[in-house]
Amino acid sequence: MSYDPNSPLVVLEDGRTISGDLVVAADGIKSVARATVLGGADRPPALTGFAAYRATVDAAKIRADPEIAWLLQKPALNIWIGEGRHVMTYTIAAGKSLNMVLSHVDRTDPQTWKPEDAVEQMRAYFADWDPKLFKIIKMIENTQKWPLLSGVSLPHWCAPSKKLLILGDAAHAMVPYMSQGAGMAIEDGAALAEVIHQIRTAEELSEALNIFTQERMRRSGQMQSASLVNGKIWHFADGPEQQKRDSAMRAEVEGKPFQRSANQWSDPVTQWWCYGYDAEKAVREAWGRRGRACKI
Ligand SMILES: Cc1cc2nc3c(=O)[nH]c(=O)nc-3n(C[C@H](O)[C@H](O)[C@H](O)COP(=O)(O)OP(=O)(O)OC[C@H]3O[C@@H](n4cnc5c(N)ncnc54)[C@H](O)[C@@H]3O)c2cc1C
Repeated sequence: MSYDPNSPLVVLEDGRTISGDLVVAADGIKSVARATVLGGADRPPALTGFAAYRATVDAAKIRADPEIAWLLQKPALNIWIGEGRHVMTYTIAAGKSLNMVLSHVDRTDPQTWKPEDAVEQMRAYFADWDPKLFKIIKMIENTQKWPLLSGVSLPHWCAPSKKLLILGDAAHAMVPYMSQGAGMAIEDGAALAEVIHQIRTAEELSEALNIFTQERMRRSGQMQSASLVNGKIWHFADGPEQQKRDSAMRAEVEGKPFQRSANQWSDPVTQWWCYGYDAEKAVREAWGRRGRACKI
């Protein structure tokens, strides 16, 4: 399929065309629209030197083992962190399945990865970790290794015609260390709907897209950086930085009240920045700052 950013038109594989006032392409990390928006040469997300194994384990097997059953006693997201690696677990499918993301430093070429080696390699990476966690890892029968990419800074998300726009992972892929990739895509959608709601004439669409891209490039760029920073914090090698991080997280880990944490997921200030942001309000205010009347 292809895009004509001037008409604007989407040309489907079977030759059919679809046209409108604006084409919004949320076509993911391997976006085809991105190259068109950039005038021909793509600037795809880049390898970060991190990879993740993703797997699920039957929760019934964990509940049946007294040594690890505690993990599922109450709904929780658990994270084990350490040098160059971390493991995150939470239940899915109404508690029937434990979802696992096992992340590690890996600077090898993904083209050389062999799916048949993945389970064995994953076990080798975590064999010297918490024996209770490793017990669960040994229950993983199938896994796949994914390279973790982060989007490079793009000069614009909108074609010069202002009739083709990219958003979501197509525009701002990020490593999952703030778990905000889909969150940012949803914010994009909310902000776009709100800013388009503000226009009164078709001529105002161009200005609405300027406001949208300016706000969303700033916000998602900050989240891309925060995700990489949290990866660094979680992956410190044993030493002074790791010791300071651990002492700054101690209250949280011990279940005591806390006002700051080195862990960006639970630090209250970072949480407010991350979850307290109102994507609709942000573009509405930007619209108003340009001297335009706001519709509620
Ligand atoms: C290990 C890992 C863990 C993650 N955890 C989280 C998390 O906890 N929270 C969070 O917010 N995010 C998380 N993410 C990120 C999240 O998955 C993505 O950021 C999100 O899915 C991006 O949404 P999107 O709609 O932009 O793109 P996508 O979800 O990739 O959707 C793009 C869609 O476009 C379709 N498409 C592409 N090209 C075409 C075409 N030519 N024709 C028709 N269809 C097409 C694709 O099939 C796909 O369905 C995680 C990512 C990873 C790798």
